[in-house]
Amino acid sequence: MTTHSTRMLILGSGPAGLSAAIYGARAGMKPILVQGIQPGGQLMTTTDVENYPGFADVIQGPWLMEQMQKQAEHVGTTLIYDTIVDVDLTGRPFRMTGDGGDVYEGEVLVIATGAQAKWLGIDSEEAMKGKGVSACATCDGFFYRGKKVAVIGGGNTAVEEALYLTNHSDDVTLIHRRDSLRAEKILQERLFAHPNVKVLWNKEVSGFIGGGSPEGLVAIDLKDTVTGDISRLDVEGGFVAIGHHPATELFRGHLELDSDGYIKVETGSTRTSVPGVFACGDVMDKVYRQAVTAAGTGCMAALDAERFLAAAEFAGDAISEAVAAAG
Ligand code: NDP
Repeated sequence: MTTHSTRMLILGSGPAGLSAAIYGARAGMKPILVQGIQPGGQLMTTTDVENYPGFADVIQGPWLMEQMQKQAEHVGTTLIYDTIVDVDLTGRPFRMTGDGGDVYEGEVLVIATGAQAKWLGIDSEEAMKGKGVSACATCDGFFYRGKKVAVIGGGNTAVEEALYLTNHSDDVTLIHRRDSLRAEKILQERLFAHPNVKVLWNKEVSGFIGGGSPEGLVAIDLKDTVTGDISRLDVEGGFVAIGHHPATELFRGHLELDSDGYIKVETGSTRTSVPGVFACGDVMDKVYRQAVTAAGTGCMAALDAERFLAAAEFAGDAISEAVAAAG
């Protein structure tokens, strides 16, 4: 069992955590970044990325994350693989414990553990992911321009994604399992007023149907939740928008979370309810959820962390011995 000590401890290795690391390292905070069970985050399971600024040609998600990792290491970040099972945020240095017993100490902690899209959980969904079935219209909608598409869900995300898709398609269907939406009224009004969107009420997805060569989505099978009737909707893009799980279980009871489980931050900053603990990326953002916004908030977290440490040191708040010894 080893104790790893640093000024800046980061948990999570998606664009948010790695951007925090790049800025933190360049500010001399010698970050230690602990990568969890999905190093690189959601982009590791994304293929074509066309919306990350700086790349004129399409790039691959895993390649982008590899570049960010190398960049973070080149400027002085230590990357460690571990699964954190416990956190202690009661005082500085903050402590996290890995499943093998290693302890990580940081004068500041940046949480960038991300969020996972919820899926319907049917077999054909798994088979058709990346072949027409996606959980992010903002990321993938462009690939379906001029094609018939559908969005599944009834919350703000589903309605926003359906409206977003009207930029690319003049045939968008929202599929919802009940007869009313939970999205905000203003979004509902925009949706109902849009000439290129129709809503199918009381419908559950029973299957995503593939066809063609290379195989792609050709239709979605539906079951009426009231009558039990079966129907088929011909579409080439199906966007599942039924919510996300922010990865915050570790922090429940230690930090303030909102009613959806996201880490609460002060507006316009990455400061959490515990001074010295910062959150960035999808773990605190349920509105934008983009790689570039995650990277942006990662940068903010590093700047917030640096200012916090500078203010604490100016106030004579000594850095702990372990961290000082670690340099
Ligand atoms: P929500 O939890 O609000 O909505 C999820 C939707 O998916 C619900 O309509 C739900 O149906 C449906 N659903 C859930 N599980 C299934 C399933 N297994 N099969 C079919 N349908 C299912 O998630 P959102 O991502 O929309 O929003 C999450 C939070 O983020 C909310 O607080 C929202 O307000 C916020 N948000 C805010 C935005 C903004 O401010 N611009 C943008 C996006 C999100 P049912 O209604 O029947 O439960």
